[in-house]
Formats: sequence, structure tokens, C-alpha cells
Amino acid sequence: MPRRTRLRKVVAPPEFKGYKPYGTYKNSKEYVELLYEEYEAIKLSDYDLMNHKEASELMGISRPTFARIYESARRKIAKAFVETKEIRTVFGNTQMDDSWFICNACQARFTIPKTLKQNICPMCSSDQIESLNNQK
Ligand SMILES: [Zn+2]
Repeated sequence: MPRRTRLRKVVAPPEFKGYKPYGTYKNSKEYVELLYEEYEAIKLSDYDLMNHKEASELMGISRPTFARIYESARRKIAKAFVETKEIRTVFGNTQMDDSWFICNACQARFTIPKTLKQNICPMCSSDQIESLNNQK
């Protein structure tokens, strides 16, 4: 039986779809896919300055698993930097407490409270919204 990947808790999705290099003559169509949990690992470790033990507990995974995700994230970002590739964020094996949406009109990222009936963007009232939880 294949081992089921345990979902990694991510507090909030990254506030961007991706990053693109500029000022380079290379115009590669290739890109690197950064999983939400990899973004979260970088954020917790290098931005929030948590140690691996704290960060792994927050994400509900073991320390070795966290270390693996973190290492993978750094390698992907390094590859994108050195090879001037675009970075795109994708859902991965992520679990988020809330349902997150992105507005395709104004690019806002937000959660919709269960009490709200209409699925519209709270920033611009557009109905061009897309769930981030079901990506890919
Ligand atoms: Zn909007």
C-alpha cells in the first residue's frame, strides 16, 4: 500500500502566484514549482526565525520531514535564482484551516467567512474568484 503523505499545515497561502526574474537576456519558459508547504517552511525558518522543532510542530509534521521540505524549498529557490527561472507557487500537500480564495480581478487573497452567502471578493466585489485550496 502506498504511504499516504501527511498533510502539512500552512497558516496562510503565499500572497503571490509567483516570481519572475528581470534584467536578464535569458527568456526561459521553464519555471520552478514551489509548494505552499515549502513557502511556509522558508517563512517559518528564515523569516519568522523559528528553529526546526518549533516550525515542524506548527506544521504538524516530524522534524526530519520539515528539514526535507525546507531543504527542497531552498534548492528550488536557488535553482530559480541561478538559472533565472520563474517561481510559481502551487498547492502541494497542504492543509489550511480556512478556505482561501484569490480574486482574479484585483489579485486579493482572502478567506470567506461561513456566514457570508455570496462568493464575491471583499475588496472589489468581483465574482471572478478562485479557490486556492483546490489548486492543481
Ligand atoms: Zn477583487
